[in-house]
Amino acid sequence: MSVRTPPPAYAELVARVDAFDARVQAAQGPYLRCAEGCDTCCRQRRTAFPVEVDAIRLWLSQATPALLETLRARRDDPEVRADRRCVYLNPEGRCDVYVARPLLCRTHGPAIRSASLGLSFCGLNFEGMDAAAVDAAVPADGILNLDLLTRMLVLIDAQHRAGTSLPARQDLEEALTP
Ligand code: SF4
Repeated sequence: MSVRTPPPAYAELVARVDAFDARVQAAQGPYLRCAEGCDTCCRQRRTAFPVEVDAIRLWLSQATPALLETLRARRDDPEVRADRRCVYLNPEGRCDVYVARPLLCRTHGPAIRSASLGLSFCGLNFEGMDAAAVDAAVPADGILNLDLLTRMLVLIDAQHRAGTSLPARQDLEEALTP
């Protein structure tokens, strides 16, 4: 079966989010504790839009057989399943599909704002600060607009799913199924 290639708009959105994240990391470094080895965000099973799952599947289609074998063994490991951690989180606390990780994973770290959540942020970042203090300390363009990002992703995903029977959401581990 051939792998569905995400539309170019998906890669463009990923690049924009990565650029935002790089700018935030540079500007807000003293507030952030995100670093290699911190895997708190990855210790849960995650779903994503099919376009994101297919981006992982496409990347995996060019991965080594050894990596695929490792990932499938981890997926089938009863301990991993019971723990409900993400199947791509390796024992060293790193993401095995980091280059192709979904947008949600690329937004870990910065404060986010949405209509339903208001201003929210990881409790390991912005230590000792409440939402009002973060709002005062961080410029508006340093806070991720989650509603806008979601709207853009929904449109790109709809384009990707057009004419298919793909569901609205998929478990990330489905990318391991060819
Ligand atoms: S895909 Fe990677 S970054 Fe995202 S939750 Fe899984 S291990 Fe973490």
